[in-house]
Amino acid sequence: MSTMPAVQAPATPAKALSVPQKALRKLGLVRDIDLALHLPLRWEDETRMVPLGQARPGEPVQFEGEVTDSQVTFRPRRQLVVTVADASGETCQLRFFTFYPSHQKAMATGTRLLVRGEAKGGFLGGWQIVHPTVRPAGMALPGALTPVYPTVNGLPQAYLRKAVLAGLGRADLSETVPDAMRPALGLHGDWTLRAALEHLHRPPPDASVAALEDRSHPAWQRLKAEELLAQQLSQLRSKRERDALRAPALPTRPGGLQEQLLAALPFQLTAAQRRVGEEIAADLGRPVPMHRLLQGDVGSGKTVVAALAATVAIDAGWQCALMAPTEILAEQHFRKLVGWLEPLLAPRGLGVAWLTGGQKKKERAAMLERIASGQAALVVGTHAVIQDQVQFQRLALALIDEQHRFGVAQRLALRSKLQEQGSEPHLLMMTATPIPRTLAMSYYADLDVSTIDELPPGRTPIVTKVVADSRRGEVVERIRGQLAEGRQVYWVCPLIEESEALDLSNATHTHAELSAALPGVLVGLLHSRMPPAEKKAVMDLFTGGQMGVLVSTTVIEVGVDVPNASLMVIEHAERFGLSQLHQLRGRVGRGAAASACVLLYAPGENGRLGETARARLKAMAETTDGFEIARRDLEIRGPGEFLGARQSGAPLLRFADLVADARLLEVARDLAPRLLDRHPEAAARHEARWLGGKSEFLKA
Ligand code: ADP
Ligand code: MG
Repeated sequence: MSTMPAVQAPATPAKALSVPQKALRKLGLVRDIDLALHLPLRWEDETRMVPLGQARPGEPVQFEGEVTDSQVTFRPRRQLVVTVADASGETCQLRFFTFYPSHQKAMATGTRLLVRGEAKGGFLGGWQIVHPTVRPAGMALPGALTPVYPTVNGLPQAYLRKAVLAGLGRADLSETVPDAMRPALGLHGDWTLRAALEHLHRPPPDASVAALEDRSHPAWQRLKAEELLAQQLSQLRSKRERDALRAPALPTRPGGLQEQLLAALPFQLTAAQRRVGEEIAADLGRPVPMHRLLQGDVGSGKTVVAALAATVAIDAGWQCALMAPTEILAEQHFRKLVGWLEPLLAPRGLGVAWLTGGQKKKERAAMLERIASGQAALVVGTHAVIQDQVQFQRLALALIDEQHRFGVAQRLALRSKLQEQGSEPHLLMMTATPIPRTLAMSYYADLDVSTIDELPPGRTPIVTKVVADSRRGEVVERIRGQLAEGRQVYWVCPLIEESEALDLSNATHTHAELSAALPGVLVGLLHSRMPPAEKKAVMDLFTGGQMGVLVSTTVIEVGVDVPNASLMVIEHAERFGLSQLHQLRGRVGRGAAASACVLLYAPGENGRLGETARARLKAMAETTDGFEIARRDLEIRGPGEFLGARQSGAPLLRFADLVADARLLEVARDLAPRLLDRHPEAAARHEARWLGGKSEFLKA
């Protein structure tokens, strides 16, 4: 390793790169600034000797000693075993599973070495270290803590350390936030960006590991504030770019289709539904594409709000599309919307069309024809809605249900369905997984959010019980009780990631068990591998009330609406995510009947539940509030998983923590628009510094 890698020369053909150079790319460490912002994971104290006499198992030692023996053994596998004795006479065996003759020579008997590593053993057979760091004795110890960086295979720490320090030396670290604004961000003058980075990459000799690893240190605060500011700037900019686009302005007409639908509904809107309906109508009235998220707990009545938005677009002479993630859900929407809208559309010669993957060719062709001609004012379907053959005559509004189930590409495809030059459809995304405030303020800052925070009247709260699987018998008793009262029951079996077949056998087994235990009751089975027609037949029996119990894999997760169902049993509840459990639970409690959710759990092989599984079940038992669930989910999982498909590829926050750094987030949010307005160049420089080319992902 004689010369530094040419980290700033992306023009070099890929095949000319060395292994560590390729690894640097893989980590996204291309520019000097990328290297400078690649911060240590932890620090090691190599400044002191830790002789074997002071060693504790599993902790690092660093000592000088003399090689007393060196040999290659073959049991249990080929390895070089070097025995070293230190001044006090204690011995340590060094084991190397990969080694070259040069290593053997450098550690020949009689050589004095400086050894560093994690010592194991220490009782009878003396100490052992696997793959220690070994240098000739007598070398000066470093004067400061040694940073340890996140790395990948093929990129040794020593190489990475050199590359980072070189990048740090060369990078432009001039301040982007003007002096006058810096106090607002809490960026104290004595912690310039350079000072903060120097501190973390090259800690001063007297720094302690604990102080560095405590991320409340001002150097960390400085970096976290910068990172959050970059994220805010990126979101704000993409929001403004979108605001510069055009969309059809869709005014709400008094006495129009929307009023007719409201008059025809069998219920009154809740205050929350009315409020979000107005927010959406206001967006639609403007010639700028709406980019709004409608969040509301399961059962809060988002569908009717979507239908009301659709009426506005249809009234103005445009088409709408509603896309749902599963065929069952799409069909349920279709039925509901046909029921509400067909009577109003038919007199105008318009109707609702239906598109799914499993559709017959002829039916599909007919639907495509109706969509292209504009006769289909509303198109409901699965992913089929965004396929190339689907040509809308005039699409003005796209509604996406359970938006987190769709990726960025799919949303973009829907947006591109409005062919008119420079114009985009309005976009309303719906989710039953509410976004905690800190997330809404960070990753979703470019979205407008409408929240339905109230359930329709007459719902009874759901009682949740966490029950060990060994008490299954009692649960079956309980099912019997519900059936005797004319109610219906869901029983959900988990998806087993590794094996769809196993998943199925589990559900099949439970289905057989319940069928046997409940003679005279129709027990149905639903799983993802069933042909659509069969799924539909089973769903129809359950929706129609003839089927008492529905055993299913997670296919019923979203959207199924059977108000007579009063009991939800979730088997192996410990395997589900928190928001998934909450969504499943939301399938009951939709009518006036008292409803319950039973979370059956089976402890692991050690007889215990894992910590996060326990936290999830506890949260479920303690609250039915979707916002509280979402907040705890964020705490348990962190934002990476929480965001799911929406932001795959998006730059996740590397340093800032949305829970711990909520205050910094508020400050960054406050500063971003001022910086962007008054110092657009500095804002662009700041964003590029932190996000490079990655901010593109955030736009969809
Ligand atoms: P979600 O928000 O989970 O998608 P849905 O739109 O499926 O909820 O609504 C759940 C049920 O509540 C549906 O049967 C729907 O017709 C009904 N509903 C919606 N709004 C009201 C309301 N204001 N009053 C009574 N029932 C309502
Ligand atoms: Mg819904």
